[in-house]
Amino acid sequence: MSNEGRDLNRVELWRVVPRSVPFAIGITSSDICNFRCVYCNQSTIEGIKDAQVLTWDNFILIINQIEDLLKNGKDDLKIIRFIGNGEPLVNKKLPDMIRYISEKKICNRIEVTTNGSLLTNKMSDQLIDAGLTRLLISVQGTSSKKYQDICGFNIDYDRFVDQIKYFYDNKGSCGLFVKTVDIALDNSDDEKKFYDTFKPISDVTCVEKIIDACENVDYSSITNKDISHETRYGGSYNEKKCCDTLFMYLNIHSNGDVDCCGCKYPPLYIGNVYDKPISKIWNGEVHKKIMIEHAKGNRGSIDICKNCKSINSFGSFPEDNLDEHLDEIYNRLCKLD
Ligand code: SF4
Ligand code: SF4
Repeated sequence: MSNEGRDLNRVELWRVVPRSVPFAIGITSSDICNFRCVYCNQSTIEGIKDAQVLTWDNFILIINQIEDLLKNGKDDLKIIRFIGNGEPLVNKKLPDMIRYISEKKICNRIEVTTNGSLLTNKMSDQLIDAGLTRLLISVQGTSSKKYQDICGFNIDYDRFVDQIKYFYDNKGSCGLFVKTVDIALDNSDDEKKFYDTFKPISDVTCVEKIIDACENVDYSSITNKDISHETRYGGSYNEKKCCDTLFMYLNIHSNGDVDCCGCKYPPLYIGNVYDKPISKIWNGEVHKKIMIEHAKGNRGSIDICKNCKSINSFGSFPEDNLDEHLDEIYNRLCKLD
């Protein structure tokens, strides 16, 4: 697998679920993006529901709720990721948010996934100084022309590479991961150019596969390849009965909506943090009922899950596959309060 972007030191998930705390919480600091990547819902007429920038007050509310979840849970939180359906750096408070989390010491790692276009030397200094653990940059090609084709953005490519180099040269212990997507590379020469450019100025560099993640995107208009059996990180494709991310991840959107999906749009919403605290969403009846349906092999009873392709294509780590242990997981879920 080409996935150095995710933790390769994985436990067998079936042994540790259900968890009182997710492994990772994703916070969307901005559902607004300055790109319109052809494979992303941002490029569609439907766009992203209720897109906005997360306010500082709502960020504090979310962190307070995470602290409350941790206080009452028995598991630890490995990662808080600034990720989502928009560009995190659109939110100018992002370095302050990272510092706030870092000082609270509520998770082991803090990560940001960005398109990197808004990176400046000053922003790099602020992110590193704030306590960021790893920056993940998604590159959309090896030239300004390709950027126009893939995401409709006019980028000064040399400046963009220089900004990444600055981050790399000044990052201290912070990790830097640079990835691109297969459709942004025309051929093997282009792939070589990608690695030649970014390998010397990153810790890890890789090419991910495009997957059928957004319902509103017509993938056949983007690629001639049959992507129905591709996995994002190149692992083997399996038709799964039970969704693993449902048991691992919790994502909070800028409007407060919560889901437990991997890479999927629209996701399956299970609550909103402005109506109900995270502890009552993660450990609540809605989430439990959905987990039970999946553990019964009955995800077809939930419309969004029934048609979800991401379930088979997103993670594909053998350690995460729950399908061989569904009876045991079902029994554990039934014993939850
Ligand atoms: S940069 Fe990310 S969020 Fe923005 S359009 Fe591209 S894939 Fe979507
Ligand atoms: S099956 Fe798909 S829609 Fe359902 S929880 Fe998993 S990722 Fe989300």
